[in-house]
Amino acid sequence: ADLVTILFHLGEMATATQSLDETTFELLADELGYKLDLVSPEEEDKELLETFDIDLDEEDDEEDLEYRSPVITVMGHVDHGKTRLLDAIRSGNVGAGEAGGITQHIGAYQVVQEHEGEDRSLTFIDTPGHEAFTAMRARGALVTDVAIIVVAADDGIMPQTIEALNHAKAADVPIVVAVNKIDKEGANPAKVRQQMTEYEVVTEEYGGDTMFVDVSARTGEGVAALLEAVLLTADAGLDLRANPNREVRGIAIEAKLDKGRGSVATVLVQSGTLRVGDAIVAGTAYGRVRAMINDAGERVEEAGPSTPVQVQGLSSVPRAGDVFLQTEDDRTARQIAEKREALERNAMLAKARKRLSLEDFKTA
Ligand code: GDP
Ligand code: MG
Repeated sequence: ADLVTILFHLGEMATATQSLDETTFELLADELGYKLDLVSPEEEDKELLETFDIDLDEEDDEEDLEYRSPVITVMGHVDHGKTRLLDAIRSGNVGAGEAGGITQHIGAYQVVQEHEGEDRSLTFIDTPGHEAFTAMRARGALVTDVAIIVVAADDGIMPQTIEALNHAKAADVPIVVAVNKIDKEGANPAKVRQQMTEYEVVTEEYGGDTMFVDVSARTGEGVAALLEAVLLTADAGLDLRANPNREVRGIAIEAKLDKGRGSVATVLVQSGTLRVGDAIVAGTAYGRVRAMINDAGERVEEAGPSTPVQVQGLSSVPRAGDVFLQTEDDRTARQIAEKREALERNAMLAKARKRLSLEDFKTA
């Protein structure tokens, strides 16, 4: 009512539920001696989580950090072989004939590669495509440490190759170039290297700092070398460490409604260790982890940093890019989800009105 009165004196006839434009709000704030601060949905969510004592930016103590596998996304022009390469990488490790080795598509998988005498694991996001990458990045949920850019050696650089390069650059993610289809007649891997220099991606062979590896996703040639190049690139420039002993933070990378199992969501754990029974919230979905399966389709009890698992037990289907949070108990998870739902509803209404009402106006 006070605000309505002040507005009246400012020459604006308004009711509490009426929409006003930003300028009017600025006038109002000015009049009251406040600085107007329009809060983004991300900030709003941060504030919401703070009321539950959850700080997403909280840093871990150095001594709690342990090595984790790098997370890799494959990008490139359509038909240059992303899907086939992801299959080759996976089958090279899982082995199609392996007893009980039914691979499960859960949106990500892990493979092991010997590197400098050590067995190293790598996590691949296998929902390739720039859209997923862009969508997640737009939501601040970048889950990629290294990007593999696939370029077919018989086709060379194409529009989506450049797009992929730009995505990686904008996200400040190091790249490795997989020069694919070298088994094909007319394949010209040298030309790919040459073309790439025009985009400031220079192979080590020319004194640059990007690794190029010739591969054939069809024959499997070069795939192990590609994985080694990814590990070298990751080790050279990245701090691959996370705290496995803390409450879980992760990102939903894909999710769906399954007839028999209800909501199933693949989460890539970023820190902490997710366990069956944990209370979680992801976007507006909440619940307890009822069961988890890994990329081999096996039931698992826990998943640490860089491990993808498919989780059952959420109340609804989260979106790709939603942050997975472990909470103290399921009541907290539910409260956060419900508050988010309310905020989303408000945001949608405000968007529909394209303006704010006095009810959106509160003092900090
Ligand atoms: P995507 O659109 O990037 O996912 O490309 P795909 O993996 O679907 O591959 C497109 C086509 O190229 C398919 O017919 C593949 O079998 C073929 N292909 C992919 N990699 C190779 C390769 O290394 N050699 C040959 N000869 N064909 C390949
Ligand atoms: Mg594909």
